[in-house]
Amino acid sequence: MIDKVLIANRGEIALRILRACRELGIKTVAVHSTADRNLKHVLLADETVCIGPPSSKDSYLNMPALIAAAEVTDSVAIHPGYGFLSENADFAERVEKSGFIFVGPKAETIRIMGDKVSAIRTMKAAGVPCVPGSGDPLGDDPEENRKIAHKIGYPVIIKASGGGGGRGMRVVHSDAALATSISVTKAEALAAFSNDQVYMEKFLERPRHVEFQVLADNYGNVVVLGERDCSLQRRHQKIVEEAPAPGITPEMRADMVVSITKALKAVGYRGAGTLEFLYEDGRFYFIEMNTRIQVEHPVTELVTGIDLVKMQLRIAGGEPLPIKQEDVRITGHAIECRINAEDPKTFMPSPGPVKLWHAPGGPGIRVDSHLYTGYAVPPYYDSLIAKVIAHGEDRDTAIARMRNALSEMVVEGIKTNAPLHQEIFGHAAFHQGGVDIHYLERRLGLK
Ligand code: ADP
Repeated sequence: MIDKVLIANRGEIALRILRACRELGIKTVAVHSTADRNLKHVLLADETVCIGPPSSKDSYLNMPALIAAAEVTDSVAIHPGYGFLSENADFAERVEKSGFIFVGPKAETIRIMGDKVSAIRTMKAAGVPCVPGSGDPLGDDPEENRKIAHKIGYPVIIKASGGGGGRGMRVVHSDAALATSISVTKAEALAAFSNDQVYMEKFLERPRHVEFQVLADNYGNVVVLGERDCSLQRRHQKIVEEAPAPGITPEMRADMVVSITKALKAVGYRGAGTLEFLYEDGRFYFIEMNTRIQVEHPVTELVTGIDLVKMQLRIAGGEPLPIKQEDVRITGHAIECRINAEDPKTFMPSPGPVKLWHAPGGPGIRVDSHLYTGYAVPPYYDSLIAKVIAHGEDRDTAIARMRNALSEMVVEGIKTNAPLHQEIFGHAAFHQGGVDIHYLERRLGLK
């Protein structure tokens, strides 16, 4: 069993990991930049280590500093959270080579899934449905690329194989724009991800984003914990997520469980993970896999009753999965709102001191947040400051609870996108359920 974990992250997820460790009786080490001395989990951790200046590349992305912190504190395992180094195969490898447990899949699995072309190839081979596309990376021959585009049919989307965070994608509607779009995406991909490999997919016009949560242990056991709908997005960034996805029947879910389980067994997957799909006209199309815990994991926790972060730690400690697929039950409905420190109209970040924080409560409400009155949100990092999650026996109850919660929540001193959430929860289309990934931008007049 693991008895001390170094949390290689910050903000709400670092606090979430700390709480899971405490429940399991695991000691915690918080690492932080000089800008993050007052983070809530840093104040609560058993030990703390300052790993560098504010800039992420010098602190939360600084591998030698993280490994050294694990060494001086005698940590047994490193939990990477999400973002930062969580999907960096080189980091996972260095962690294990230095004698620590990486709370996540094997480095080689992260490498295969981190490259979207090889991830799609792997899924296809296991019979998981994928978006019609080039399959292979695109070469430099414009004529060849035109042929591929015609075979798929316009519109197509050019995507960076190493892309992430909604960057490194470009939609193309005709031959005229194809060659330039490919070269621009390649140049951007090289600059952003140090990898200029790009591929082509059919651009689906009105899909929903539906993803499946998985857990796997070291002994070949896999469970699929149902799906989440994350279609409410702005600039490919999720804003509201829910589980289960409206309109997905138990039969459709059961079919997906079979092919996903087969694929994960084939790659020897370990830990928590998410397979992301676009869903259109009753069909699923795999787009990518995230080999880590996700921001939106709480909605799955609330409808399944399974603590995903504790599971990650138990799997990393060598325990077999305590549940089988037939034990998985989806109960009620859960919705999450991501509360960001930003202007609700211009989306400009709004860091600064929080003069007053009052978290909402009541039946079925969970708040994952590192905020406290007097805490100053630093300008250097992601603007996520809180996740409000509502659970109810059905979707309407979850929505009613969320509306209450949003109206009770108080954040003074900084601007947040709470007014945007209030607005979304008033939309008839949202109440009906099943909006597509472009819905929010259309409604906001951004498209
Ligand atoms: P990232 O790793 O950057 O998140 P994804 O491959 O997950 O990239 O795609 C992010 C988002 O981009 C999707 O949720 C969807 O909104 C949009 N997208 C990606 N591929 C397609 C496609 N083939 N057709 C339409 N939209 C797409």
